[in-house]
Amino acid sequence: MSAVGELINGVKIVFGAGVDREVHDSIVQALESIVSRDLLTGGGALELYVSSVSELNSGHAEKSRHYPPARKAIDISRVNDLRMADYYSTNRVVAEVTQKLQERFEALPARRENYGPFLQKKNGVISTNQGIIAQHRSHIHFSTN
Ligand SMILES: [Zn+2]
Repeated sequence: MSAVGELINGVKIVFGAGVDREVHDSIVQALESIVSRDLLTGGGALELYVSSVSELNSGHAEKSRHYPPARKAIDISRVNDLRMADYYSTNRVVAEVTQKLQERFEALPARRENYGPFLQKKNGVISTNQGIIAQHRSHIHFSTN
């Protein structure tokens, strides 16, 4: 286990109130592989908001991979303090960063659930579950195997 850092490859990570940053090493390794300043073409300051990691009673499904002992999931819901829920479809920065995060995560061998506004896949297979699709218009959910 380790904690999600507050700075990953030059990108500032901000946490929601009450977020438990302790996670399985596979999530930390995945973030270090995919999070970097070049998520945004041309560089510029970049900040990601983590709304959930492994805290208990966070409203996820009972068998969610967020919860201990797995701690193998993370939710990201804002880019530069702009909510994906409000800005994914209208803001270039939010759209680009969201899309690149999901594309990069999907290329990792450890990727399991990759749900978000851009795509919804589990173990590389497109999900057609309407609940999964609807629930992840507002944030990216990554989990590892
Ligand atoms: Zn999640």
